[in-house]
Amino acid sequence: MSTEKGTISIHTENIFPVIKKFLYSDNEIFLRELVSNAVDASQKIKRLSSLGQFNGEVGELVVDVKFDEEAKTITISDNGIGMTAEEIKKYINQIAFSGATEFMEKFKEANDANEIIGRFGLGFYSAFMVADKVEIDSLSYQDGAEAAHWVCDGSTSYEISAGTRTTRGTDVILHINEDSKEFLSKFRLQEILDKYAKFLPVQVRFGTKTSSEPDGEDENGKPKYKSVEVDNIINNTNPAWTKAPSELKDEDYLAFYRELYPNTFDEPLFWIHLNVDYPFNLTGILYFPKIKNELEIQRNKIKLYSRQVFITDEVKDIVPEYLMLLHGVIDSPDIPLNVSRSFLQADGNVKKISNYITKKVADKLQEIFKSDRKGFEEKWNDIGLFIKYGMLSEEKFAEKANEFCLVKNTEGENYTIKEYYEKVKDINVDKDGNIVYLYTSDAAQQDGFISNAKAKGYDVLVLDGPLDTHFASYLEQKGGEKVQLKRVDSDVVDKLIQKDEKIELTLTEEESKKASELFTKAISRNDMNVQVEALAADELPVSVTLDEFMRRMKDMAKTGGGMGFYGTLPDNYKVTVNGNHPLVKRIVESSDEEAEKLAKQAFDLALLSRGLLTGADLTSFVKRSVEMI
Ligand code: ADP
Repeated sequence: MSTEKGTISIHTENIFPVIKKFLYSDNEIFLRELVSNAVDASQKIKRLSSLGQFNGEVGELVVDVKFDEEAKTITISDNGIGMTAEEIKKYINQIAFSGATEFMEKFKEANDANEIIGRFGLGFYSAFMVADKVEIDSLSYQDGAEAAHWVCDGSTSYEISAGTRTTRGTDVILHINEDSKEFLSKFRLQEILDKYAKFLPVQVRFGTKTSSEPDGEDENGKPKYKSVEVDNIINNTNPAWTKAPSELKDEDYLAFYRELYPNTFDEPLFWIHLNVDYPFNLTGILYFPKIKNELEIQRNKIKLYSRQVFITDEVKDIVPEYLMLLHGVIDSPDIPLNVSRSFLQADGNVKKISNYITKKVADKLQEIFKSDRKGFEEKWNDIGLFIKYGMLSEEKFAEKANEFCLVKNTEGENYTIKEYYEKVKDINVDKDGNIVYLYTSDAAQQDGFISNAKAKGYDVLVLDGPLDTHFASYLEQKGGEKVQLKRVDSDVVDKLIQKDEKIELTLTEEESKKASELFTKAISRNDMNVQVEALAADELPVSVTLDEFMRRMKDMAKTGGGMGFYGTLPDNYKVTVNGNHPLVKRIVESSDEEAEKLAKQAFDLALLSRGLLTGADLTSFVKRSVEMI
């Protein structure tokens, strides 16, 4: 075969510099692209053989990745179908897009290398991100095929001539450019292969070339080189998610989890094996980790694969956000991987996939709840946050989760939302028939308020998780017209659940006014509003409370509830002075000096009971208390 020169058919001279420069940040994916091509070529020969279109020996299919630091080359070899010179011209030289103009226009809005490479069929050309010269040496499986050698230096011209391969398959040899020397490292290549090739369906080996020294000649008189030391196999070609669930035991799922996340010691709580082929194709295994009480940044992210090729662990646009708390693998050739974010979100398949996963997750949780309620309750601490997150962010999930979402009271008892309603609907009721769910966000700090509520026979929920402010609002909205949620410290208990009986104020109007003035003066804080009220004589003389509505809005603003405005407002406490308490009567009747001291003392006790007494105020409280004893 004579040497032939030609021009790659794209209509700009400068496409490679553009590719190189533009894709710089993501350039490690050249290896994914070339290894995937080699895997595809290997699978094709297998398929041709099984279809009876290839009658030779398929042999053991292997993709070899080698590098040579001295020669500055990386070589990807396969024993797949190979290509004839004609095929190289057809498949490699004609970049599969309609023209450079389109490319130049489109790449401006493309976000990353994946997008360009996939959208324009530039898989092979990603080699030029890291190489300034690329060679292909290939021998097609076809009877009588001749080996072909192609070389291109990154300009648009190439040269094709007779090749040297004597066995079926393809070598792609990259001459690594000056800027990409980082890839001529065992460590770096290993890292990239571990990331992208770990579960490829054809064996991938990674070895280092010990030497590029000539080592005699072979029987055809061609120079031989010192042998290549192949030292490890990168991949498990048959990962758990590709198997049928019936083939797998618990140990297998756990072992696969460790394979996926070798640096994790925590075991997952349970898992779901996903497996659909209609109306889209998707397999995978999702694991429920112990989430505890924090929405930490997830280390073990869900990994997205396409036919066992790792694509990304940024699955934000494919699975609903709350599902990103899960771990595991999703493999789907039906997720358009190389399109922009907005397109992905609008894509019908992506929506269906997301709905499917949501349903599977909800079904699994329901199944565990139904079959083992006790076990489910025990796991609640580890999965509750996830479930609440799901309920708050996805209507469809909430519909199902309503049946198994648990709430816990201060006695440590668990109830479903419906059970809880039944429990308190005749107890925590005010004079207008409102059913008031009292809750605490911090049982230790709000202990005084909790015991007041309990003394009245009321039940108190514990809502102390990071999403519970939002969840309180959720319970309120879904609980029906009559259900209200109030934190135990948002008012004195008789105001939280107001009954019909009216308590008379024993202070005269004048005394009441005086009490108000005295306390306002003693307190002298502008974030506190004094109110003299008629409460039972055995209630505390002074209580400091924070209005439910404002506090909740502010809390939500803090956790990103889109209520930023409230976040900027100062706290505004209410100081309830119990006009019927004997101490208040005494204060009103005392000398100015004594009155101020007692009012301060009573107020400080109220602050102390909710952990608000600190710094200099605490010091002077202690001093004053000592004097008074
Ligand atoms: P894509 O893989 O998306 O088709 P590429 O640019 O990566 O785009 O490859 C173009 C074509 O070149 C492939 O479809 C295949 O026909 C051929 N090809 C690439 N690498 C190999 C290989 N190692 N063995 C056989 N054919 C190959």
